[in-house]
Amino acid sequence: MKKPFFHPILLVCITFAAALPGPLAAQNTRITDLVLTDEVFLELYRGTVASKNRILKHERKSIYDNPVIYSYMLKQGEDIWTLIARSSLNIDTIATLNRVDFIGMLGEGVTVYLSDTLGLFFEKEGSDIQVLADRYSVPPEEVLIVEDPVSPGGELFFLPETRLSFLERTYLTGVVFYAPLIGSESSKFGTRADPFVNREAFHGGIDIAAREKTRVHAARRGSVVFAGESGDYGNLVVIEHELGYHTLYAHLASIGVEAAEAVESGQIIGTVGNTGRSTGPHLHFEIRRFDWKLNPDNIPFFLGTP
Ligand SMILES: [Zn+2]
Repeated sequence: MKKPFFHPILLVCITFAAALPGPLAAQNTRITDLVLTDEVFLELYRGTVASKNRILKHERKSIYDNPVIYSYMLKQGEDIWTLIARSSLNIDTIATLNRVDFIGMLGEGVTVYLSDTLGLFFEKEGSDIQVLADRYSVPPEEVLIVEDPVSPGGELFFLPETRLSFLERTYLTGVVFYAPLIGSESSKFGTRADPFVNREAFHGGIDIAAREKTRVHAARRGSVVFAGESGDYGNLVVIEHELGYHTLYAHLASIGVEAAEAVESGQIIGTVGNTGRSTGPHLHFEIRRFDWKLNPDNIPFFLGTP
């Protein structure tokens, strides 16, 4: 199996970039309150309502201009649903512009970027304009290039007034995954003190403490792409799902599936163990998309194992 890689430095940069208003967030595009008496918010609102109405009426403008990007820091109790309810924006626009893996990433204190035109944003680097145009049924000449507010200096493709697929949107909400087991989270995703060496290290998943031999379930249906011993991971199962998503189950005592096997959501794939680089019986659980490690704690809730 290819050695798993991650980008701790890049992740940290993105986290900090998201926390600070970028150079695009000029004074007049920073929203203070999500109310119509906030003049900046009112400008955004006029744009998003017009855009949403065109989508509802299946109309398209003859020419789209670059969207105006606003910034707003979420207040206590606010999340993506607050933004959607107040602004007429949708999950697709907010999640792709802010490079959100799971919508739970947007909470109090996070600066979000809001576009006055609904649509989809993709990092220009590594994206193919024709592939995007075909996938989201938009003429390639209507794809715009805009500055990336999240990573200043970068550019994004913007596909005005297009939508994600139902499956893509469902993954963004995170409610496609079943709990791999019932246990208490003993270690979170992110930078932490490494239990083996006296320095900070990046933890690419969550640890769920459970008794040895507790059954581990597939978080979603898919195809087993790895089942066996893998260095620090000990006994490891990797399942491939749709859209480039993978889940990993490490430190298992026993493995109950084989590579290339199709598994159903909730199927037992092994038991909790203490194999590999582990200090006690627990499941190390990861969710990845295209080798990016995502934070499972940004999923609002896991479905109950069937
Ligand atoms: Zn772990």
